[in-house]
Amino acid sequence: MIFDVHILGSGSAFPQLHRNMTAQFVNVLERHILIDCAEGTQLQFQKFKIKPSKINIILISHLHGDHYLGLQGFLSSMQLFGRTKPLDIYAPAPLQDIIYMQLKATGNYLTYKLNFHPLTSTETELIFEDKVIEIHTIPLDHRVYCNGFLIKEKIKPRRINKPACDIENTPIAMMHRLTKGEDWVQDDGRIIPNAQLTLDPVRSRSYAFCSDTKYAPSIIKIIKNVDLLYHEATFLHEMLARANKTKHTTALQAGEIAKEANVGKLLLGHFSVRYKTPELLEEEAKTVFENSIAVSDGDKFSIG
Ligand SMILES: [Zn+2]
Ligand SMILES: [Zn+2]
Repeated sequence: MIFDVHILGSGSAFPQLHRNMTAQFVNVLERHILIDCAEGTQLQFQKFKIKPSKINIILISHLHGDHYLGLQGFLSSMQLFGRTKPLDIYAPAPLQDIIYMQLKATGNYLTYKLNFHPLTSTETELIFEDKVIEIHTIPLDHRVYCNGFLIKEKIKPRRINKPACDIENTPIAMMHRLTKGEDWVQDDGRIIPNAQLTLDPVRSRSYAFCSDTKYAPSIIKIIKNVDLLYHEATFLHEMLARANKTKHTTALQAGEIAKEANVGKLLLGHFSVRYKTPELLEEEAKTVFENSIAVSDGDKFSIG
């Protein structure tokens, strides 16, 4: 029951030898998702031994270079590798023209189907779902149109309480309906409430990615109770004026968001290149939310 988040890049602005810019690989129940694709992301795949050909969904937060300038190279390499399976991209609408303009200029046409899903809404929306997972946007407050993403398992079926069903002689034919939450209406009209025959579902797991953004309490209701939250922490709080001006968040504010949203664990990233190491940012977030971690490229977090 895999739900893993691999940090491929956790810096901001420009590449550094020890820290590349934003990209993450999420494997949720064998759905392989790439979130953002900064320049150099292909090398990070190689460095951390992840096969990029597995990716079938790409989510792009916004069109600042440190979040998407690796995408064209990635698409081109997929073609060189002989990809034939479709690829779905969810990104701000103008990216579609950028991609196709580059393809046209180079006379290159992809060997696989690229399904581009333009994002334009400033309200949270469900952008992808299948039988077991959902992906929602998290509208952020940045200098350009920007979304975070909430990836979560769907609510699972209720579990049959076998001893209780045995006592009531519940027919096998009723079991599937019970897992969907229906009461058992017997032939004589007697109703046995669902809660008497079933147990709560196994908890559904969730991950929220929020970068880049100004401190945005509006996201708290969307990310409430997620198991894992990645939130940008570009600056220390002493740089609040700069954070406000550039529409970024301080480590202290990231901790406040995590606390208010009651998340399980907070991952901090997107550090300004002025910080050679992120210890101070982690310490600052921990003053309000203890379970905070400043991530490094190559880190992997599993949601159990
Ligand atoms: Zn950025
Ligand atoms: Zn940005």
